[in-house]
Amino acid sequence: MAKLLRGFRDLFETEAQKLTKVERISRDIFKIYGVNELRLPTLELKEIFIKATGQTTDIVQKEMYAFEDGGGRLVAMRPEGTPGVARAYIENNFQANPVQKFFYIGNMFRAERPQAGRYREFEQIGVEYIGNASPAADAEVILMLKAIFDKLGVKNYKVKINSIGCKECRPKFREDLIKFFTLQKDSLCEKCQTRLEVNPLRVLDCKIDGPKFTQSAPKQVLCPSCQKHFDEVKKYLEGKVPFEVDPCLVRGLDYYTKTVFEFQADIAGAQNALAAGGRYDDLIASMGGPKVPAVGWALGAERVALASTFEEIKTKKVFVVSVEESSNSYAFNLLQDLRDNGFTAEGGLFDKNLKAQMKQANKIGADFAIIIGGNEVAKNTLLLKNLNSGKQKEIVYQDLFTALKEEK
Ligand code: ATP
Ligand code: MG
Repeated sequence: MAKLLRGFRDLFETEAQKLTKVERISRDIFKIYGVNELRLPTLELKEIFIKATGQTTDIVQKEMYAFEDGGGRLVAMRPEGTPGVARAYIENNFQANPVQKFFYIGNMFRAERPQAGRYREFEQIGVEYIGNASPAADAEVILMLKAIFDKLGVKNYKVKINSIGCKECRPKFREDLIKFFTLQKDSLCEKCQTRLEVNPLRVLDCKIDGPKFTQSAPKQVLCPSCQKHFDEVKKYLEGKVPFEVDPCLVRGLDYYTKTVFEFQADIAGAQNALAAGGRYDDLIASMGGPKVPAVGWALGAERVALASTFEEIKTKKVFVVSVEESSNSYAFNLLQDLRDNGFTAEGGLFDKNLKAQMKQANKIGADFAIIIGGNEVAKNTLLLKNLNSGKQKEIVYQDLFTALKEEK
């Protein structure tokens, strides 16, 4: 039967245009920051995600579209972009250039419960800075995200940041959390009861339990080097973007170290996490690559599109109508001539009569109709009708572009 899968969508007209707009503006900002595009496959070996995203994460445990392909390989549709970037970095010996800045734009797949702003196939736009351990890199990627949000006119968004420490200082935080949550195991949701021992940080990220323990949960005590790093990130951001330090902000993925952050905004009826990221200094080495520091983020293009207030400048549309067979070529050449000169022009429905062509012009919201018949061809003129005012005038072909520009 011709029916969509649940959680998947057909996007057309406004919805498709909004996503394109988010992509376009992101690309403008990437250019300014000198970030290069990386296009990666949608399908990867499943173990890439198990290793990078983390065995205990919701994504790996139950959200992945994974299957055995014809050759008996266990593969998965990518649920996020970072593991593929790390894999590509290692495989292509990108470390020949010690500092690399990538962005990707692509669809991700997660078999989670669909709701407003949460789909099973969705678009992420992401950035990864690899090889820069300086807190300046953390600040820079955050400011790049801010630039995109501002240019898209996302209003009243909040930037939350935190540091979740490193291999040195996180184990103590983990233990403190395990102790704390074990004491109140009965009040945790079913999922958190099981993940408590394996990944206690995730309890703080749980949509049900997280908010209950915001005040009372033990806080991370950073080692001097992580503390210094975090202080510097904050110093770089100071005065450039309003941010809030949220000691309970942890991320759902396993690979983060030190800085984590999230951009949130209220969108009517939809999820408020618009973009998220952080530093992942140990990931590439843990996947068999060199020891290189990295920091990045991913934004959810649909959620950002919902929050965006940016309006495109509407260009005037011209519709070319030919009323006789003898005027078709003239009209067709005019149509192309308009496009070659940068006008938005449609038409070419020359097998239809005048009335049907005019009807289509109105249907697509054209601002002008140019009507041509045998008479006009003979005189090298045309009839220019302003469809908004209803006024029309006969003009010579050579004056058309000037006339259209004046009417704008
Ligand atoms: P959430 O808390 O909403 O589940 P997440 O922590 O799983 O988000 P990330 O993996 O950090 O999200 O992905 C980064 C961004 O991708 C999110 O901030 C969100 O905007 C977007 N995103 C994540 N999952 C979905 C989804 N199923 N549908 C649409 N957008 C999504
Ligand atoms: Mg999620």
